[in-house]
Amino acid sequence: MSKEFSYWEYASYLKGIDVLIIGGGIVGMSAALHLKRKSPKARVVVVERDPFSAGASTKNAGFACFGSPTELLDDLETMSEGEVLGLVERRFRGLSYLRQLLGENEIDYQASGGVELFAPNDNDSWSNTVEKLDYLNRILFEITKSETYKVLSEIPAWKGKIRFTKGIVNVLEGAIDTGKMHRRFSDLLRSESVEFFHGMNVKSIEEVSDGVEVNWGNGYSKVSQVFVCTNAFAKQLVPSLDVRPARNQVIVTAPVEGIPDQGTFHYDKGYVYFRPIHGRILLGGFRHMDRLTESTDEFGLTDTIQHMLEAFLYEYLAPETTPIEYRWSGILGLGPDKTTIVKSVSPRIHVGVRMGGMGVAIGSEIGRELSKLWIC
Ligand SMILES: Cc1cc2nc3c(=O)[nH]c(=O)nc-3n(C[C@H](O)[C@H](O)[C@H](O)COP(=O)(O)OP(=O)(O)OC[C@H]3O[C@@H](n4cnc5c(N)ncnc54)[C@H](O)[C@@H]3O)c2cc1C
Repeated sequence: MSKEFSYWEYASYLKGIDVLIIGGGIVGMSAALHLKRKSPKARVVVVERDPFSAGASTKNAGFACFGSPTELLDDLETMSEGEVLGLVERRFRGLSYLRQLLGENEIDYQASGGVELFAPNDNDSWSNTVEKLDYLNRILFEITKSETYKVLSEIPAWKGKIRFTKGIVNVLEGAIDTGKMHRRFSDLLRSESVEFFHGMNVKSIEEVSDGVEVNWGNGYSKVSQVFVCTNAFAKQLVPSLDVRPARNQVIVTAPVEGIPDQGTFHYDKGYVYFRPIHGRILLGGFRHMDRLTESTDEFGLTDTIQHMLEAFLYEYLAPETTPIEYRWSGILGLGPDKTTIVKSVSPRIHVGVRMGGMGVAIGSEIGRELSKLWIC
């Protein structure tokens, strides 16, 4: 069915856009806010193809984290100390900026700490991590100005068949309510007169002499500047970018009695993550156990990952009778390393993509950085 835009739609909505932001996730919304603040008279418009946002920003786990000890030790195997510290610093500062920008109460920020848990059979990984904890604390001190990691004397009681026996807490991590964060961004955009259109799927963009031509699928229009904030889907609009999609599956149970009331928890270098949320358990991960299938930008649930999530849930976290009430997937944007891409690919087209697994931490700061690319 052909559904071309009308004359009225062109005249009222599509003409006269100064800055178009494609993608309504954390990065796109933050970029829009900062671009509008930079030039209040400009017409700044965000377009998003989904009802809310559909990539990662409304699908994530809400961990306000900047690195578990096993993850950082793993990174140090392939990256220099300076590179790893650069990543940590960016996330640490990004989290502080997110809280300042949106307000801690508005996003239900909980300074709950982030705990890495170890199971009884994880002895090697435990002793290797504990041995290097002083070293990690020493190098992180420059950034956090306090002792970041501590060995837990008491392990939080989960309700599965097997007990976690050891844990290390990152005392500076926390949690947010992902939905509230997204709503808060939307409210701010509305109150600062940024326009936001949903259901708009941009097919292609092309810089021409006096602007950027946007192919909407059912018509074309010209805008002055474009910011591509489509993360995992970036290659579709800018094929030269090295961004690889990775699906992540998540479940949320019915309420479970007697679990911790707050906190964020990691297992296995951060590949498995869980937290209590409103008396329920949110659990996600295991992408690394089926990398080939999960290297996709298609949303969906698979038996393989769902069985792994269920097995872990009942072994470690909840009684076997606990129903699972929500299941979903989201798509991460990864690269050959953990760096982000923030750059202009031409005078009028700018990109801010490849947020990896820490977009909550860095997304709002990346939006602010992007706005600096516009010379208005
Ligand atoms: C399951 C899961 C759990 C996670 N947990 C955490 C966590 O606990 N802590 C953390 O820090 N990070 C976490 N992340 C990562 C974090 O959510 C992301 O890094 C972050 O949300 C990326 O934000 P973004 O704005 O760059 O991209 P996205 O949120 O993916 O936004 C991009 C948007 O662009 C839209 N789009 C794409 N193509 C087009 C087009 N052609 N036209 C119009 N719109 C388009 C998409 O619909 C999408 O809404 C998690 C991710 C997933 C998937």
